[in-house]
Amino acid sequence: MQAQASAALAAAPPARSSGGAATAAACRRGAAAPLRRGVAACAAGGSAKEVLERAADRSEPANEPGFDARAFRRSLNTTGRYTRKPSNDPDSLALMEEHGVGYSTSGLVAQMRETGYAWKQGDVTVKLAEAYGFCWGVERAVQMAYEARKAYPGQRLHITNEIIHNPGVNQRLKEMDVQFIDQGPDGEKDFSGVKSGEVVILPAFGASVQELRLLNERQVQIVDTTCPWVSKVWNAVDNQTRKGHTSIIHGKWEHEETIATASFAGTYVIVKGLAEAEYVCDYILNGGNREEFLAKFSNAMSPGFDPDRDLERIGMANQTTMLKGETEAIGKLLEKTQLKKYGPAELSSRFMIMDTICDATQERQDAVYKLTGAQGTAEGVDIMLVVGGFNSSNTSHLQEIPELKDIPSFWVDSAARINVDANKVTHKLAHGELVETANWLPEGPLVIGVTSGASTPDKAVEDVLDRVFRIKDPSFAGIAPRKAAVKKAAHEEE
Ligand code: SF4
Repeated sequence: MQAQASAALAAAPPARSSGGAATAAACRRGAAAPLRRGVAACAAGGSAKEVLERAADRSEPANEPGFDARAFRRSLNTTGRYTRKPSNDPDSLALMEEHGVGYSTSGLVAQMRETGYAWKQGDVTVKLAEAYGFCWGVERAVQMAYEARKAYPGQRLHITNEIIHNPGVNQRLKEMDVQFIDQGPDGEKDFSGVKSGEVVILPAFGASVQELRLLNERQVQIVDTTCPWVSKVWNAVDNQTRKGHTSIIHGKWEHEETIATASFAGTYVIVKGLAEAEYVCDYILNGGNREEFLAKFSNAMSPGFDPDRDLERIGMANQTTMLKGETEAIGKLLEKTQLKKYGPAELSSRFMIMDTICDATQERQDAVYKLTGAQGTAEGVDIMLVVGGFNSSNTSHLQEIPELKDIPSFWVDSAARINVDANKVTHKLAHGELVETANWLPEGPLVIGVTSGASTPDKAVEDVLDRVFRIKDPSFAGIAPRKAAVKKAAHEEE
C-alpha cells in the first residue's frame, strides 16, 4: 500500500474509456443512477463533472453513447491511482482490533463461539445466532479503509458514503480524519471539496460509474473497497447490456448498492419484491397500461425506458442484501415468463441469469429462524436482541423474524440506546418506528437470543450485552478477555 501511495502522483491516462463496440445495446448504455445520488444526462459526452451535475435530469442516459463501463473499470487498474485489494498490513489489523471494528478475538462474542454459541451470566442465558455480524466483504472494506489511512499519512482522505451501515465504525473513521462527502437533503453529493492528488475511499457497496469517472478525471487516488460479490453483479448487468438485454434488478432503487449496479446497466427496471416482478411479468405476457407502468417505476428504471420495447430480452440481477429466497423466486418467474412467451427454442436468447447471490444475508436470517424456532419449549428464547445500524437493510430483515413470531425483540444500533439505571431501551421496529420501552428486562431467569447485522462489529454486541448484564446484576464487573479462535471468513479472497 505504501508503494501505491507514492504511485499516486504518477501521471495517469485520461478518464475517457476506450469506447468499445458501439452496438445497439451499448448505445443504450450508461443509464442514469436514480436522481438522488448525483449523476446523469450527457448524451453529447462532456466531462465527468458535467455528467454528475446533470444528475437532476433523469430523462437522458448518464454516459454518452458507446461509453464502455467495463473497459473504463479495467482501465483504472493501469492508472497507478487505483487500489482494490487489502494489503493485510499488521498494524492496521491491530488498530482495528484496538478500536473494536473487526471480528472479536478475545471478548464475549469470541468466547461464545467456543462455548456452543451460548453463555450464562447470573440468571441470564444468552444464545448467539450461529451466523451473525460482519460478513467477509464488510470486514474487508473496513480493513482497506484502515490501511488507506496508514498508507497516506497526512493526506486528505475522503469517503463517498458510509463505509458500511454502522454508526460506530463510521465515527471511528471520522476520528481518524476521514472526510465524508457531503450530501444535500435530496442525497445529491458535493464533490467540490475533493482535490487532485487526494485520496478517496469507495465503500463496500460500491459507487456509481459516474462517480468513478469524476474521481478518475480529478486524478485522485481511489481506494475501492467494493465487495467482489457486488462487482460480480456489475459484471452480470454489463454482460446483459452487451447482449442487448434489459436488466431486471431485485433491489431497493434508493439503496447505494443498487444505484451503483444500475449505473453499470444499460436499460434496467428495479423491482423491490416478488409482487413488482409479477407485475412486470404480467406486462410481458399480456401487455398492460403503459402509463401506469411508467408511473409505478418512475424512480426505478433507466431514462427513456419503454416497457413495450425494452422487455423483449431480459436478464436478472440483484442487490446482495435482498432475501436470497425471493431473488431466486424472481429469477425463476422471469425465466418461466420468457419461456411461456417465446418458447424453449428462444429462451437462451431472451433470458440471462448468473449466480450472483451472496449467502451472508440469508445465513443470518436462517440462524434467527433457528434460534426462535422452538418457542414454548426449553429451547426457545424469551426475548431477542438485534444489533445493527438503523439504516441497515439486512438488519431490518433480522428484526422482522421475531416480530412476525410475536417474540419481544429489541433492535438497537449501539449500547448507548440502553439506559442501565432506568432499565430502559430505545429501539427500532422493523417497519421503522423508534420506540422507548421501560422495564424491558424482567426480573428473574431470562433467555436472550442475540444476533447482529452484516455491518455490525462484534464489539457492538459485546457492549450491548455488557449493559444487559449490568441491568440484571448491578455488581457485574465485565467479562474478562480471553484469546479465542478467530472467526472464519465466509468467502475466500478472489
Ligand atoms: S453481504 Fe455479501 S455482497 Fe454484501 S458486502 Fe457482505 S459479503 Fe459482500
